[in-house]
Amino acid sequence: MAELRFDGRVAVVSGAGHGLGRSHALELAARGAKVVVNDLGARVDGRHDDGTGATAAEAVAEEIRAKGGTAIADGGDVATEEGARSLIESAVDAYGRVDIVVNNAGILRDKAFKNITCADWDAVLAVHLRGTFLVTQAAFGHLRENGYGRIVNTTSPAGLFGNFGQSNYAAAKMGIIGLTKTLAIEGSKYDITANAIAPIAFTRMTEDLFPPGARELLSPEKVTPLVVWLAHEDCETSGETYSVGGGRVARVFVAEGPGALLGDGGAEELRDNWPDVNAERPYVVPRNLAEQTEVHFQGLT
Ligand code: NAD
Repeated sequence: MAELRFDGRVAVVSGAGHGLGRSHALELAARGAKVVVNDLGARVDGRHDDGTGATAAEAVAEEIRAKGGTAIADGGDVATEEGARSLIESAVDAYGRVDIVVNNAGILRDKAFKNITCADWDAVLAVHLRGTFLVTQAAFGHLRENGYGRIVNTTSPAGLFGNFGQSNYAAAKMGIIGLTKTLAIEGSKYDITANAIAPIAFTRMTEDLFPPGARELLSPEKVTPLVVWLAHEDCETSGETYSVGGGRVARVFVAEGPGALLGDGGAEELRDNWPDVNAERPYVVPRNLAEQTEVHFQGLT
């Protein structure tokens, strides 16, 4: 089996001081990538007033260097324009280029919808959705110039399928899907791919949700092979989303069912055809708006 190597490649991994990001950064570095390990040392709720700052990122960068790899730490906040810009500048200043962007930083402010405050909403959207936008946009010009890039974004099953108490998080994570699909379209001309992973892993973010026995089964290291593959030049897949954890990987896709073509019977005809409207098979998986529009127009004939 030919090893997937990243010699000469430069990767930026956000939120890589702990959990999944740390695992991605270590593995990319072990395979030859020069890595910028970003983390501002936030708690799971995003607050970072405990003075830890960039310590977590520095510890991971040091771990990489101790193993013979190449890495630097960046303690910036990806939710800010300044933090995102300086993260990408760090990569270019230190290593001359950027090839791989892994948007992984994340926080939680879980509350039942009726109790969510604007601050909880904004904080979660800022790190996940705005952070993914800002870091990717800061890198995008470099990727276009190089005619090459691999973007791996991090969504969540909670966003794809919904989850009680996570309206802010789910909205951000589903927003990342739309962003990823559009990046795939806009990047295709420049050999820039963009995909999203929806992980399930035992980290400090999820340790209260899983039984202790799940720690090994759902280790972050079992998610990272998907990131490695999506970040590799041999992988040309783009615009896709994969659920991943414990060694299982599955594509998750947005599909459109066969639908029903209605006459002039108004809402009553719609009511009477409701099962057909909701039928799931046969479905199609449009890859962009144009393909979906074509499917719709075919359904009108
Ligand atoms: P984690 O808490 O271990 O890691 C998240 C990291 O992001 C932390 O080190 C934190 O300091 C950093 N971070 C937070 N805000 C930041 C900011 N503004 N700038 C820079 N860094 C910041 O959690 P994890 O489980 O490893 O989560 C990683 C990603 O995976 C997140 O996007 C999360 O939503 C997603 N995810 C995780 C799971 C899971 O099962 N663990 C499931 C679905 C999605």
